[in-house]
Amino acid sequence: MSLDESVVHGSKATVKDLPSIDKLLRLPSVQALIPLHGHTLVAAQARGLVDGLRAQALAGALDVAALAPDALGQAVAARVAARLAPRMRRVINLTGTVIHTNLGRSVLPEAAIRHLTAMMSGPNNLEYDIASGSRGDRDSIVEGLLCDITGAEAATVVNNNAAAVLLSLAALSAGREAIVSRGEQVEIGGAFRMPDVVASAGAHMVEVGTTNRTHLADYERAISERTALLMKIHTSNYAIQGFTSSVSEAELAPLARARGVALVTDLGSGSLIDMGKYGLPQEPTPQQMLLDGCDVVTFSGDKLLGGPQAGLIVGSKELVTRIRKHPMKRALRLSKLPLAALEATLQLYLQPELLIDQLPTLRWLTRSQETVAATAASLLPAFGAALAPRFCVTLASMQSQIGSGSLPVDRLPSSGLAITPVLSGKRGVGSALDALAEALRGLPLPVIGRIADDRLWLDCRCIDDPAELLGQLHALRAAVIGD
Ligand SMILES: *Cc1c(COP(=O)(O)O)cnc(C)c1O
Repeated sequence: MSLDESVVHGSKATVKDLPSIDKLLRLPSVQALIPLHGHTLVAAQARGLVDGLRAQALAGALDVAALAPDALGQAVAARVAARLAPRMRRVINLTGTVIHTNLGRSVLPEAAIRHLTAMMSGPNNLEYDIASGSRGDRDSIVEGLLCDITGAEAATVVNNNAAAVLLSLAALSAGREAIVSRGEQVEIGGAFRMPDVVASAGAHMVEVGTTNRTHLADYERAISERTALLMKIHTSNYAIQGFTSSVSEAELAPLARARGVALVTDLGSGSLIDMGKYGLPQEPTPQQMLLDGCDVVTFSGDKLLGGPQAGLIVGSKELVTRIRKHPMKRALRLSKLPLAALEATLQLYLQPELLIDQLPTLRWLTRSQETVAATAASLLPAFGAALAPRFCVTLASMQSQIGSGSLPVDRLPSSGLAITPVLSGKRGVGSALDALAEALRGLPLPVIGRIADDRLWLDCRCIDDPAELLGQLHALRAAVIGD
């Protein structure tokens, strides 16, 4: 192709114009990447770039300008950066759901992050008894704490509460019967359905009662010599209202004892403190369940407890020992990362006065509407200015949710920003809000809100540092308004 022709055809490059990989790697701007990232990644991205450019050239869509040394260097650098950009990212949760499973549930307290970092930066005594110089048990790191806090005789920990339930059932009822009320045949999320879990544990489930009503006599009649345990499930993520009745752990315990079967309860969220004291909906605690006569109680580490993902099992020495010795325990055991975080989180519970300040989950749940409104008000002028004139931003009352299996009917009065598009009619409202939500998610620190009733709602309950939001408004304006 002559020079004249390339001008006629709009300066399109052909395959012949492409640089060799070697030549590309010798460009000073590409060479500069190699000490930072090594030859392997830089060469792979250089090859990827040339492959892409070849396809464009073959399609007659490659501008000559893209082959200038500066452009090539920048393109390789951009590809390297994109390849190294983490998939797991911090986000700002303005959804109004405090313990949001899709957003990683509880955020760790500072003390847990510090302990976790310290323990991960070298070898540690995960399964080593420093005093005797012999092999130790990883459970011992938190067992004493869990027993002190809940009053249990013994405790063990696994990967999550689903694992805690599965393991407890496998260890205590495999090949025998577990009695569960029909009102508690719940699906907790994903593929975690109680009947399937009981079956996976190798137990035979015996259902008693009806969806809305189960009585003590129903359990009583169902117990036979095949029965291993009575299983209660805290049906926290839905509510049956009206003509209902269920049998509490306190009522079941004497029956279980008299008939020689175990009483196991799955609390789910498992708060370790009296939530009522903080003006929050009352949740049954493991300590109360043990006082009521449960033999084994299971609960999550990353819901109301406010720590890392973990499944906690507390109860009698005899049954917890059986659970710990089951072969499945090895497959479900807690890794050293969450174990370190759990230890430091549980230590906060020895200092309950510190909890409300140092445990992010509790700090956010207990934040008053006035405090949240003050944060929202402080953000309002800057948000309004950033989105003008395309959107109107107002201060609004809203309702936060606890999340993660706590009663969806329990709402926390909250406050935040409500954003509506400035349009002449109703047309285009949905797409304008979708575009705004997408722009918020596209920020360097993605902001996750909630669209409902023709508004984008940004609940300010979980904001500790408004500067993180304010610092991104410039980028938001660039994305939404384009100036
Ligand atoms: C959340 C929940 C589970 C599952 O706990 P994970 O820690 O998410 O595995 C089990 N049972 C109940 C009642 C729950 O609320």
